[in-house]
Amino acid sequence: MTASPTVVPASPTQTSPIVHYLNGLLERFAPLEQGAVATYIPELARSDPRRFGICIATLDGAVYEVGDTHARFTIQSMSKPLTYGLALERLGREEVHRRVGVEPSGDPFNEISLNPATGTPVNPMINAGAIACAGLIAAADDDPLETLVDAYSRYAGRRLDLDEAVYRSESETGHRNRAIAHLLSSFSVLGVAADAAVDLYFHQCAVSVDCRDLALIAATLANGGVNPVSGERAVEEGVVREVLSVMTTCGMYDAAGDWLVSVGLPAKSGVSGGVFAVLPGRLGIGVYSPALDANGNSVRGIAVCRALSHDLALHLVRPGERTALPVRARHELGTLGSKRVRPAAERTALREASARAVILELQGELGFMAAEAVSRCILEASVSPELVVVDLRRVTRVDRGGADFVRAFGESLAAVGGTLVVSGAAPGLELRLPGEVMWFTDLDAALEWCEDELLRRVGHPGAPAAVPLAEHELVEGLEPDELARLQPELGTVAVGRGTLVVRTGDPADEVFLVTSGRLSVRIPGAGPEGRRLSTLSAGMTFGELAYVERGTRTADVYADTDVECRTLSYATLDRLAATDPRLYAKLLHGLARVVVVSLRRANAEVAHLTA
Ligand code: GLU
Repeated sequence: MTASPTVVPASPTQTSPIVHYLNGLLERFAPLEQGAVATYIPELARSDPRRFGICIATLDGAVYEVGDTHARFTIQSMSKPLTYGLALERLGREEVHRRVGVEPSGDPFNEISLNPATGTPVNPMINAGAIACAGLIAAADDDPLETLVDAYSRYAGRRLDLDEAVYRSESETGHRNRAIAHLLSSFSVLGVAADAAVDLYFHQCAVSVDCRDLALIAATLANGGVNPVSGERAVEEGVVREVLSVMTTCGMYDAAGDWLVSVGLPAKSGVSGGVFAVLPGRLGIGVYSPALDANGNSVRGIAVCRALSHDLALHLVRPGERTALPVRARHELGTLGSKRVRPAAERTALREASARAVILELQGELGFMAAEAVSRCILEASVSPELVVVDLRRVTRVDRGGADFVRAFGESLAAVGGTLVVSGAAPGLELRLPGEVMWFTDLDAALEWCEDELLRRVGHPGAPAAVPLAEHELVEGLEPDELARLQPELGTVAVGRGTLVVRTGDPADEVFLVTSGRLSVRIPGAGPEGRRLSTLSAGMTFGELAYVERGTRTADVYADTDVECRTLSYATLDRLAATDPRLYAKLLHGLARVVVVSLRRANAEVAHLTA
């Protein structure tokens, strides 16, 4: 018999080196022709042993598939972990554990291995345990089959259906499973009639899937229960660990020990020839090839999983592995400021109090390791900080320990008069912050709040809401007579809060000297308001760049409050070059100072970004 794996039509991922590698596995293992298709369910004997498909799905939804990944087959025992998860979710651990254990049996899948003392099945991956789980669902649900198919469909990310022929075939011949159900009934393990439990079990085994479905089912388990392509939750995260643990010790029939050592991935196989394997937090694997070894596992499926684990270093146990450090960077508020441009006096005050406010950029998982690193970072600081910003933009997940830590840390900081500020947490992160913790969606807003708070704590009087023209930064160094000559040349702009004062792309013809209120310079970007480049207040200048370039406006400027500005037109400035060269030179010098200050800020930001 010659193997002829079909290659699925090219998709963008088909040119990937991963697809190339997977095609290599198809070629390498297609000649493996040992084993035979299952025949004890007559309908399964019709499977084509040449079928061979491999699929990998990552947690960000990339799916790589080669070979017969769209050939349909029945899920068989690969349904067992899914039903077990549903039983745990619906009935709770305690109730399920009273009826089904979690110990590996080392026996064949259809062995009647019950705990001699209680009559309960030893684990949910052997038939007795799976029938008991089906019984639990049947007892708890009005339409248990629909409930199961619906749950499996969420794992696969598409609506699955039943292969009626396989169901009938097994139902007509599955005497051993019926016997197991009746035995369980005699120990009162089933909450329903034996026939109802075993019938639901036969139905669940007959759900029709393909190799891609297997990879997505595996990836959903790897992803804490959420299908990484559809984004839909298939099972509560809280039960996934138990499902994967049981798969690790009991998923591969009597070959579970060897599997753990040589492949090292929680997995489940079925007599139809499928196997799926899970690398938690990383990816899911599905392999389909119907010829089975003596243990009832797909011969090629096992070979491919071994090769994948070896070649791609996917074993669950990774000696020497070190994940990225949880604290990516630590800053003080004096070095990493908000986009609010502060007058010189405020800048000095913030620099002097810098160590009292720290910013910790975290990355990866916020769990115990991050909690330990954050607390060490703070304990080792020379001055113990009062304001601590944790920037969670790069945090992908918060586990229970991490969330507890954030809460406890917020409370203990508040108890000594400090404040924990959390910024940038993605909407899905479950933090449940206490009232004492300040919370911002964006780091810039968090930093601005901290600056204001720190200035308040050091008793800084705060920037004046209005600055007379004579004290404006642009006219610094002008003699009174020069100022008197300039004044009549200036225009006035007074606008209400929310006004767009300058629009990107408009022709530019004047410099603005802010004399009262606050404005934000924004460019299009995240959110309807765009991205804030800076916030300017009384005494500051904008519109100076276009004087040199004579172009159009490069950003929008909005009035955050009622605002008053004096304006100096480029035409006036040009004229002064001829009529009042000394005044002109001083104004040019003023513009240069403004540019230098903003360039310094920009440099500091670049230094921070490239650090
Ligand atoms: N329906 C099959 C049986 O109970 C499932 C067995 C399996 O896939 O391991 O015999």
